[in-house]
Amino acid sequence: MATNLLHVPKPQGLLRPLVVPERLLLGPGPSNVPPRILAAGGRQLLGHMHPEVLQVMDEIKAGIQYAFQTQNRLTLAISGTGHCAMEAALLNLLEHGDTALVAVNGIWGQRAADIARRLGAVVRELWKPPGEYFTPQDIEEGLVRHKPLVLFITHGESSTGVLQPLEGLGELCHRHGCLLLVDAVASLGGAPIFMDQQEIDVLYSGSQKVLNAPPGSAPISFSERAREKILRRKTQPLSFYLDMGWLANYWGCDGEPRRYHHTAPINSFFSLREGLAMLAELGLESSWERHRANCAQLCQGLRDLGLELFVKEEKARLPTITTVRVPKGYDWKEITAFLMENHAIEIAGGLGPSAGKVLRIGLMGCNSTSSNVDRVLHGLRDALRHCHRSRL
Ligand code: PMP
Repeated sequence: MATNLLHVPKPQGLLRPLVVPERLLLGPGPSNVPPRILAAGGRQLLGHMHPEVLQVMDEIKAGIQYAFQTQNRLTLAISGTGHCAMEAALLNLLEHGDTALVAVNGIWGQRAADIARRLGAVVRELWKPPGEYFTPQDIEEGLVRHKPLVLFITHGESSTGVLQPLEGLGELCHRHGCLLLVDAVASLGGAPIFMDQQEIDVLYSGSQKVLNAPPGSAPISFSERAREKILRRKTQPLSFYLDMGWLANYWGCDGEPRRYHHTAPINSFFSLREGLAMLAELGLESSWERHRANCAQLCQGLRDLGLELFVKEEKARLPTITTVRVPKGYDWKEITAFLMENHAIEIAGGLGPSAGKVLRIGLMGCNSTSSNVDRVLHGLRDALRHCHRSRL
């Protein structure tokens, strides 16, 4: 065989072993994956329609119902990350010309508005400065003014570190003929949320935060109201892959025999199952308390270092991701790089409207421990001593 048939040589990088250093991931996600979940993801494959895999999917569904505190039958995991669930929610709910009201107090509202606009929805925005949350009055004014069919709001605003209170919003939306769509990617398992009691119509999350599974699967659930809105659609959802009719069948939510839709990321489902199982074993209340206590310890430690928390009101601080102002005179990039190089700890800078303003420290799931708080505070103290400080 002639050797000059190949014009592209073997990539040298691929001929060397895979390099994955040990790091403590205390950014806004992903968080570290504990051995039990890693092992689950490394199990041998089964066929995606084998009864054992369908059983795992049923267990995932029950785990999501527990984590979301819902009895909704249309509950499943999207084969994709949090953004994919955001798209799935919006594209199944919205038709061309529908009005969507988006609460924007950070990047996630911006992203949801972008997606809704691409879908041809009429998008109206409610604005709050980064670091603040919406009151029921703010929401009601928006509902009265814009008469939307869907309201999007972020429970755990990971770009700003804000926890959005949800009490009363579902009822308010329903009084105004609107569905409530909530992003809980960064907050699920770390702060209380009660899908049914709070009358949330669509709720989604991600696998790589408190659930400590690798990114790639995203829990989502639809209320009966939301399901009916989907059933009443005049047009098909714009994506085949994310069509909730197909996905409902594939996940055994419609009582019909399951049909092949796509090849599920089976190993991701194994991992997600274990993440949900660990949350169920610990119990939601203990998980919420764990995140509350370690976040409180972190906030106190940050103040002791002379740093200023970005979110003023204590009750509005997201227990999973803490934002702290970049101290005067420092370059945030130098601080994050110092922690990475000298302590093998990842923390992050701001994102979207908080870019350049804050550092973000995540304590999620198994990473939310008192000793990790001590480690990151120790690293930060070291960084503040060693990083360049301008005299301006
Ligand atoms: N929403 C929120 C609140 C998030 O924190 C994230 C991830 N940082 C996402 C959505 C998007 O999730 P993913 O990166 O998994 O697509």
